[in-house]
Amino acid sequence: MAQPLLARLQQVRADLAIDVLAPKWVLPLLQRMPEVGEAIESPFGHGELNLRGRWRLGRSLAARGYAQAIVLPNTLKSALVPFFADIPVRSGYVGESRYGLLNILHKLDRKAPPPMVQRYLALAGRPGDPLPEAPQTRLAVSGANLARGLDQLALQPPSHTHPVAILCPGAEYGPAKRWPVEHYAELAGKLGSAGFSVWLMGSAADHPVGEAILAARPGCALNLCGRTDLASAIDLISAARVVISNDSGLMHIAAALDRPLVALFGSSSPKHTPPRSGKARVQYLALECSPCFARDCPLGHFRCMRDLTPERVFGEALAAAGRDR
Ligand code: SF4
Repeated sequence: MAQPLLARLQQVRADLAIDVLAPKWVLPLLQRMPEVGEAIESPFGHGELNLRGRWRLGRSLAARGYAQAIVLPNTLKSALVPFFADIPVRSGYVGESRYGLLNILHKLDRKAPPPMVQRYLALAGRPGDPLPEAPQTRLAVSGANLARGLDQLALQPPSHTHPVAILCPGAEYGPAKRWPVEHYAELAGKLGSAGFSVWLMGSAADHPVGEAILAARPGCALNLCGRTDLASAIDLISAARVVISNDSGLMHIAAALDRPLVALFGSSSPKHTPPRSGKARVQYLALECSPCFARDCPLGHFRCMRDLTPERVFGEALAAAGRDR
């Protein structure tokens, strides 16, 4: 979501060097963004204030002489390090009343909040500037990294005659964003019959979902959820013939890798966080109750995802992969 902002900053000023301060788990993603010079680890846990630690980190960064900091999260604590680092221009949204901590303040239109990409992109300019078109961005993967990722998991390299379909059945936000396990199992079976090797990808938290898919249809896929770090997940997704994903971080990664993609939306909205790729096929039933943005279906029937049939998604996956039925 933030990469178009980085690309826009370099569009405006080609010699601009951009470093990004982010949690450790995000660093592999940043290291694959051509716009990023250095990815610096932020050691603070989610919700942790640690004022002294933030002061120390800020003071250690002060020597680098950064000209500007753009703060993407809206929290007060996220604005502390740039302030302690004496960075002269510090911009971001007002968020948690960050008057003084930031000195270029953007206001969010809460009645009609823009999609996330545009929300971040606005931070490339001054408040009120017309919004530029979001630049197209890509993640860069090297052949050596991919070979290492395949080797670590003893996977056969994908090829034209050995295509791989990657399914991403998790979604950290909650069950209402997850296409049902039995639908994934049926889809995996169909893809296997069509000659694809099927890999399930996700975090360790998604491993039980992967196991449930295998329990519903034994042998239909290889459960790699939790067996890759983010870096190797990115590298492996780059080799997929097609990716089928819930509305999750891996969906955006597949889009940024320009892989053929079927993106499944139910309780969330493809208008809010669409995959940024011309190769993405969004599947969204747009029921009257959608999007509800709930973690669990408040109506109990979960029709937004249940009624999205494996047969339909299979057809989309084949079309995305450039294959006939
Ligand atoms: S209320 Fe509607 S959109 Fe929300 S989870 Fe249930 S079926 Fe899906």
